[in-house]
Amino acid sequence: MKRHLPWWASALIVLAIASYSWYQRQPAHAPDFEFDGPAIVIHGGAGVITRENMSPEMEALVRSSLERVLDSGYAALERGEDRMDVVVRVLGMLESDSLFNAGIGAVVTSEGIAELDASVMDGETKHAGAVAGLRHILHPAALAREVMMHSDHVFLIGNGAEAFAVERGMNLVDNDTFLTHRRHAQYARWAEQHKRGTVGVVLRDREGHLAAGTSTGGMMGKQWGRVGDVPVLGAGTYADDQGSAISCTGHGEYFIREAVAYQVNARMQFGDQTLADAAHDVLFNVLNANAGQGGLIGINAQGQAVLQFNSPGMYRGAKGQLKGNSKEIHRFVGIYGD
Ligand code: ASP
Repeated sequence: MKRHLPWWASALIVLAIASYSWYQRQPAHAPDFEFDGPAIVIHGGAGVITRENMSPEMEALVRSSLERVLDSGYAALERGEDRMDVVVRVLGMLESDSLFNAGIGAVVTSEGIAELDASVMDGETKHAGAVAGLRHILHPAALAREVMMHSDHVFLIGNGAEAFAVERGMNLVDNDTFLTHRRHAQYARWAEQHKRGTVGVVLRDREGHLAAGTSTGGMMGKQWGRVGDVPVLGAGTYADDQGSAISCTGHGEYFIREAVAYQVNARMQFGDQTLADAAHDVLFNVLNANAGQGGLIGINAQGQAVLQFNSPGMYRGAKGQLKGNSKEIHRFVGIYGD
C-alpha cells in the first residue's frame, strides 16, 4: 500500500528547499564602493606588498602617483571625454611612471630585455585591441587602442605590432629606455622583491558605459616570447556594459587558464551573481585553490566597484561620487591587505 507524507510535512520540505535556494542566491559580499555618475578605478599591481618591506618614502611615492592618476582620469570623465581616451591616458601616465611594471620601469626577460603587453576594451561596442611582446613602444596601451581603431584585427604581436605602430605614426624607442631598474640599484632591489606592478584601469563614463585596459612588462625573468594574461582578452582584461569592466593583475598563467576577466562576467550574466560575489569566488575559490596569486578591479553599469586580491597587497585606487545623500566625491588609495 502506498504511504503519503502528511500535507504539513511536504509543505515543510518545500519551504526548506525554497529558503535554502533563496539563501544561496543572496549576495554574500558587498561591493567596495557604489558610485553615482562617472567613476574610475585603477590598480598598480598585486603581490607580496607588505608594510614590513615598504619604506615610508616608497609608500608616499606610490600614493601620490595613484592620487595624481585618479584625479586626472576622473576630471577627464567629468568633462565628458571619450572613455577610451581616458583609459589610454590613465595607462599612459602609469606606463611613464617607473614605480610600476609597465612601460618605463617594466621588469625584464631572463635575457634582460623588456617585452611589453597591453590591451583595451570598450564595454558598449565590445571593440578591443591588444598587443604583446613589444620591445620598442613607449606606450603599449596607446598602440592597443590603435589596433582597436585602425586595424582589421584585435591582437598584434612583436615586430608586426611595431611595424603597425610606425604606420600609425608612433615612434620606436630603444629597449634601454624601459630599464630604469638597471640604472638604479635601489629600484632593482625593490623590483626584485615585488616583481609585480602591472597597471590597469576600469571606468564608467557619464553615459554609464564601461571600459577597461591593462598594461604590463609581465613577470620578472620570464622566458623571452612569453605572453601573460594582460593582452589576452577575457583573461586579464574584459569590458561588457551588460556585465562589468575588469582589469587583472597577478600570476598570468593562472589568469589565462581560468579566463578570469570573462569568468567574472559570465558568473554575473549567466549565473546571476553580483560583481562582488563573482570577483570573490574567482579570486578565492578558483584561483587561490590553484595557488594563482593576484587581484582584480571591476565596475558595473550600476556603479558598483570592487578592488579585490588574494595576495598580501595590491596598489589600488578609486574615485567617484558616492551613492547616497552626501554627494561626496570620494578618492580612495590603498596598498596593503589590512
Ligand atoms: N599579470 C601579469 C603577467 O602575468 C603580471 C602581473 O600582473 O604582475 O604578465
